[in-house]
Amino acid sequence: MKEISKIAANIQASTTLTVDALFKQMKADGIDVIGFGAGEPDFDTPENIKEAAYKAIKTGQTKYTPASGMPELRRAVAFRLLEDFGTGYEPEQIVVASGAKHNVYVTLQTLVNIGDEVILPAPYWVTYEETIKMVGGIPVIIPTTEADSFKITEKQLEAAITDKTKLFIINNPSNPTGMLYNERELRALADVCARHDLYIMSDEIYYNLVYDGKKFTSIAELGEDIKERTVIINGVSKTYAMTGWRIGYSASNLKLAKVMGNYLSHSTSSPSTISQLAAVEALRGPQESVKSMRVEFEKRRDYICERINAMEGLSCRKPDGAFYIMLNIEKQIGRVLGGKQITNSDEFSLALLESGKVATVSCTGFGCDNFVRLTYASSMESIIKGLDRIEEFIN
Ligand code: PMP
Ligand code: GLU
Repeated sequence: MKEISKIAANIQASTTLTVDALFKQMKADGIDVIGFGAGEPDFDTPENIKEAAYKAIKTGQTKYTPASGMPELRRAVAFRLLEDFGTGYEPEQIVVASGAKHNVYVTLQTLVNIGDEVILPAPYWVTYEETIKMVGGIPVIIPTTEADSFKITEKQLEAAITDKTKLFIINNPSNPTGMLYNERELRALADVCARHDLYIMSDEIYYNLVYDGKKFTSIAELGEDIKERTVIINGVSKTYAMTGWRIGYSASNLKLAKVMGNYLSHSTSSPSTISQLAAVEALRGPQESVKSMRVEFEKRRDYICERINAMEGLSCRKPDGAFYIMLNIEKQIGRVLGGKQITNSDEFSLALLESGKVATVSCTGFGCDNFVRLTYASSMESIIKGLDRIEEFIN
């Protein structure tokens, strides 16, 4: 038989979803395993949102909607963006897709020609690198260090730009590092993008999960020019504990939004109508649950960081947002753990799963070694148990 597509053959499975599937299978098999793997809030979707979905079904709102999303939902997104950032978008500039991951893909399809370079600071969420490759783009990775809070500077960005650069991806707060760029840092990066006529894809899906009273700034808030060249990615998965409902959205200039809509009209048509109506309630309804979940995440972050930094040979920086920590395992390299010689973070993560029965995600898929990502989107009880096991495993 003839070869399959070269681009497709080169794509790696998502490490986060692979760990999640393995973890869920182990649980289903009756194995007592603790999950620090996929970033999925353990909270149930708030009741008012579920009610909106029941109502949609009962009132027969079960038909196709426009490919870019139903007008009510596009208006609800525009309302939320105005409420939360003061950034004004027309509903026509909003594109709803089947999860923010799908918006990432459609944005890249819309902007990237084969051979275009896309700048991606590392550590990055695993899906960016693979989706850049899926659309024929070339990922240009800028490494960062823990000592620099895993953030890039305008100088590093400038040095990575060539005449082939089309797009700069920023994820703020970041998955996997949890770090937050402040307004001054964003402005410096935005100026470089404007000077070199680059587009920006700003993934802000964790914008509600910012701790210590810090302020989140969207790069698109910084001026009309930067707003025109930015595609904001966001969604309801993290903020409203709605990972399985599959609703994400983007906000961009009108021209890009129209082209994205054309793409969607030939790929998914639109996301599930019922989920769209649930998302309208999420965005327009009471926001108390958002705050209470954030308070709980912050408590878990404080606990996990304190415990880890008290362990001999492990450490982590305290993140500003999202629900991940980067566990520094450098001091574990060269040791024998769970009967296995550890030479990198993949081996550490695998040995911890097999012997310690704790699921984590190795950061090699995020473009860096010597770190393992832990999520604290699971219950406190499970976090305590998981940390006890990690302590036991390294001792
Ligand atoms: N962006 C980032 C940074 C993420 O971590 C995720 C993980 N879910 C997504 C986008 C996609 O979210 P979803 O597809 O569930 O809306
Ligand atoms: N984004 C989450 C994570 O990084 C969920 C899994 C995925 O979509 O990658 O764990």
